[in-house]
Amino acid sequence: MPRVPVKLVSWDEIVEWSWGLAKKIMESGYKPDAIVAVARGGYVPARLLCDFLDINDLLSIQSQHWVEAAKAAERAILKYPYKVDMKGKRLLIVDDIVDTGETLLLARDYIKKAWEPDEVRIAVLQWISPVAKFKPDYYHIEVKDWTWFQYPWTRLEDTQQFIQRILREDERFKGKKEIARSDLENAFEEWYGIRPEELGWYWEEALRRVSGKTNVKIV
Ligand code: AMP
Repeated sequence: MPRVPVKLVSWDEIVEWSWGLAKKIMESGYKPDAIVAVARGGYVPARLLCDFLDINDLLSIQSQHWVEAAKAAERAILKYPYKVDMKGKRLLIVDDIVDTGETLLLARDYIKKAWEPDEVRIAVLQWISPVAKFKPDYYHIEVKDWTWFQYPWTRLEDTQQFIQRILREDERFKGKKEIARSDLENAFEEWYGIRPEELGWYWEEALRRVSGKTNVKIV
């Protein structure tokens, strides 16, 4: 068992899951006037839902909770809150995943109060039911065992953070100035259950950036 269970998500899965989500929304009869993408994780599914549901109006709001891959911050914050008149409109707020749910609750409460829409519903690709503070109106997959979904739009960022976490927390590497690449690759698989080859060019680029940022030589 890896220390951090990770599911490496492909672009094809994103399209398939977003289509599955769109079908649930259509079957429910809900016809949103506009979609609100929660930045940054909701952008790609929100854009796909615009296409799949024939929706023209797409807005965004940035709510942030997880500052580092697989590590939650104390609480979510709303970056750049703004007001827009949504009276008389039905909205669909879209994000990638409800984990704790903090991010979406904050965004939803703010939108309801400040934008005053007629109705607001929430749609996500994944819902981690045992830990989430609420159940979204629409989800494609209910996740019963906590997993970090490594979505394709955050692959370089996550891979760097995964490596940095090993360098920080793994006793075998702590404080080292030079590390054998093969040792790091084996540790990466132990920690996350992913073989670096599966990451292709992202792995090479992440290694290059991490060694630049940390002054650790990977040989
Ligand atoms: P939360 O407020 O805990 O529901 O999560 C906020 C955001 O952090 C999500 O919209 C994702 O972008 C990211 N995130 C949280 N948990 C996960 C996870 N298990 N896998 C992938 N991304 C996650």
